[in-house]
Amino acid sequence: MALDDHIESTLWSQDQISDRVFEIATQISKDFKRSTDSLVFVGVATGAFMFLSDLVKKIELPIAVDFIRAESYGSGTESNGAPRISCDVKIDVKGKHVILVEDIVDTGSTLASLISHLESKGASSVSVCTFLDKPARRKVHFELVGEGKFYRGFECPDYFVVGYGMDFAELYRNLPYVGVLKPELYK
Ligand code: 5GP
Ligand code: MG
Ligand code: MG
Repeated sequence: MALDDHIESTLWSQDQISDRVFEIATQISKDFKRSTDSLVFVGVATGAFMFLSDLVKKIELPIAVDFIRAESYGSGTESNGAPRISCDVKIDVKGKHVILVEDIVDTGSTLASLISHLESKGASSVSVCTFLDKPARRKVHFELVGEGKFYRGFECPDYFVVGYGMDFAELYRNLPYVGVLKPELYK
């Protein structure tokens, strides 16, 4: 079965995504153009890789790029508790503005741990830029650090979505748009 045939419905098309990514990147470039501390984009692996890649290409400032990895989800569609940082940033973020780039914020538990981790490493601010946000499912409150800002691509309804970096059991990350799988495939 071809990749598109696994998808029941599309939530955001490639064109909608690229328009929105451009808008966010323009906003970030504007917000940080006068800041003196360096700017580091930290993608949360693996899900943020595609969004991070598209986003940084549209940022009109000199920036650094790194990754961090937090494990919380197993191969299913429900979180299995407090995430653990299993691969840390390589760049020293002390005194720098960090923009954490996420694929999707669900309960907020991953972001809460990542933000406090980066704060403890001395980042001068921690902002969040998430492609999708599911505010209806928030359980853990997180606070930005310093002058940190919150950016989001789209508000996501309470479905388990795949594509544009997001997986189900490590598959479908390469789908260039966001959709919902056919129900029989979630079993
Ligand atoms: P949280 O810690 O906020 O509950 O979960 C964050 C992580 O769970 C996301 O970064 C993402 O990896 C995963 N996640 C949450 N909702 C979805 C979803 O609808 N689809 C996929 N593929 N992953 C999700
Ligand atoms: Mg993620
Ligand atoms: Mg996942």
